[in-house]
Amino acid sequence: MMPIIQLVRGDITTIHADAIVNAANSSLLGGGGVDGAIHRAGGPAILEACRAIRAKQGSCAAGEAVITTGGKLPARYVIHTVGPVWNGGSKNEEQLLANAYRNSLKLALEHGIKTIAFPNISTGIYHFPKQRAAAIAVETVQQFFAYSTAIEQVLFVCFDEENYNIYQKLLHT
Ligand code: ADP
Repeated sequence: MMPIIQLVRGDITTIHADAIVNAANSSLLGGGGVDGAIHRAGGPAILEACRAIRAKQGSCAAGEAVITTGGKLPARYVIHTVGPVWNGGSKNEEQLLANAYRNSLKLALEHGIKTIAFPNISTGIYHFPKQRAAAIAVETVQQFFAYSTAIEQVLFVCFDEENYNIYQKLLHT
């Protein structure tokens, strides 16, 4: 069966999925926005796991992803990926954003994850233009489905109304 893409408006920390994705920063030590919300809701086990990863492999570059426990979250895992900071578009930002989605999906596949929820990576503090970010997110997920159908459901969780409206248009036209 073809995997399903779904759109949700709300807070990703409440989502019941095998994994939720965190728009982390390269330190992996927490930040504001969705990162802060995930660590607050998931409790200290997530930060502890991030520290252990850092001790082993150092910081996480833009486009890369790592996986930890979901702690107290309804999701079993958190996949932490680092989106690019928008710098006008000449710093390979589009490719790096696609890598963030693709590497998160690859990690999910390796861990037998069937349902995964993404926030709108890089569109907050990192200022990636929302319309372009959404197009890249949807296209990268669809390309991944052409490669593997082992992941059954991908949720795009939009916290802000602007992103929600953009995704609604993209997915329902
Ligand atoms: P980045 O640094 O990658 O831009 P941010 O956390 O600042 O990360 O923003 C990424 C997106 O996450 C933004 O679109 C923001 O509206 C959204 N966001 C913030 N809090 C939450 C949350 N609790 N659940 C889902 N998305 C959230």
